Amino acid sequence: MAKVGFIGLGNMGGGMAANLAKAAHRVKAFDLSEAALARAEEAGCMRAPSATQAVADAEVVVTMLPAGKHVLGVYRDEIFGAVPSTAILIDCSTIDVTSAKAVIAEAAAIGIAMVDAPVSGGIAAANGGTLTFMVGGEAEAFERARPILEKMGKAVIHAGPAGAGQSVKICNNLILASQMIGTCEGLALAVRLGLDPKVFFDIASKATGQSWSLNSYCPLPGVGPESPADRGYQGGFAAALMLKDLKLALGAAHGVDAAVPMGSLAESLYQAMVNQGDGGLDFSGVIGLLDGKLPT
Ligand code: NAD
Repeated sequence: MAKVGFIGLGNMGGGMAANLAKAAHRVKAFDLSEAALARAEEAGCMRAPSATQAVADAEVVVTMLPAGKHVLGVYRDEIFGAVPSTAILIDCSTIDVTSAKAVIAEAAAIGIAMVDAPVSGGIAAANGGTLTFMVGGEAEAFERARPILEKMGKAVIHAGPAGAGQSVKICNNLILASQMIGTCEGLALAVRLGLDPKVFFDIASKATGQSWSLNSYCPLPGVGPESPADRGYQGGFAAALMLKDLKLALGAAHGVDAAVPMGSLAESLYQAMVNQGDGGLDFSGVIGLLDGKLPT
C-alpha cells in the first residue's frame, strides 16, 4: 500500500485514481471541480481540501491535468513546497516537451525524483486500467513509478530521459493524424469511383494501404471491425484532443527545425473541424470535412 496524492480527477484522472484505490493504495485526491471530487470519493479515494494537503504525506504523486500551464502552476505553487522529498512524482498529462523537461529539472533541483508519463488510450482505458504509459526520466525514477503505473495500465514503457514520454506521445499522434486523413481520402475516393467500400476495405486492408486507421478503426460505418464511425462518430478520441496533440507536435517541431508538412496540413484540417463545432466528434469524423458530410 502506498500513500498517493492524486491531482486532476477529470475524464481520465477520475478512472485512474479509482483504479489505484481499488488496488488498495491510500489515495488522497484533489480537483478544482466539486463533482469530480465527489465521484472520486465514491470510488474509494479520500477527498483532500487542496493539492497541497493531498501531497503533504505522499509517497507517490500523480497528476492528470489539461495542459503545460496547469502542470507548471500546480507543481510550482502547491506541490514542490509541500511534498516529502522522498516521494516520486508522476505527471501523466499530455503537455509540451519544454514544460515537461522544465518541471522535472525543477524537481531534481530540490532533490525530488519525477517522470513524465503520458498515456495512450482514452476514457474507457483509463476506467478499465488498460492504458499504455510512455515514460520519460531517469531509470531509477522509472522503476519507482512502474508499480503504480501498472495498476492503471496494461503497458508501461521507458521511453528515455526526461520529456521522452511526451516526445513519443506527440510523434505517435502526428503519424496517426496524417494516417487517418490519408485513409479517409482513399475511402471517400473509392466510394465516389463507385467501388463497394467493403470490397475496397478487404483488398486495401491486406495490401500496402493497410494501417491501424484502416484495419482497426475504419472511418466508414459498416466497414471493418466496429469503430466510432458505427456509432455516429461518438466516443473514441475527440478531434479537439487530436488538435491539441498536433499543436504540441508542431510546436516541438519548430523548436528543432523539423519539417512537418503533413502534420501542418493535418492541424489545419482538425482546426477546421473544431471551428465548425465538431471538436467533440471522434477524430475519424474528419472524413465528413473531406466529403462535405459525415457518411451514414
Ligand atoms: P479533463 O479536463 O476531463 O480533466 C482535467 C481535470 O483537471 C479537471 O477535472 C480539472 O478540474 C482539473 N484541474 C485543472 N486545473 C487544476 C488545478 N489547478 N488543480 C486541481 N485540478 C485541476 O481532461 P482529461 O480528458 O481527463 O485529460 C487530462 C489529460 O490527459 C490531458 O492532458 C489530455 O490531453 C490527456 N489525455 C486525454 C485523453 C482522453 O481521451 N480524454 C486521452 C489521452 C490523454
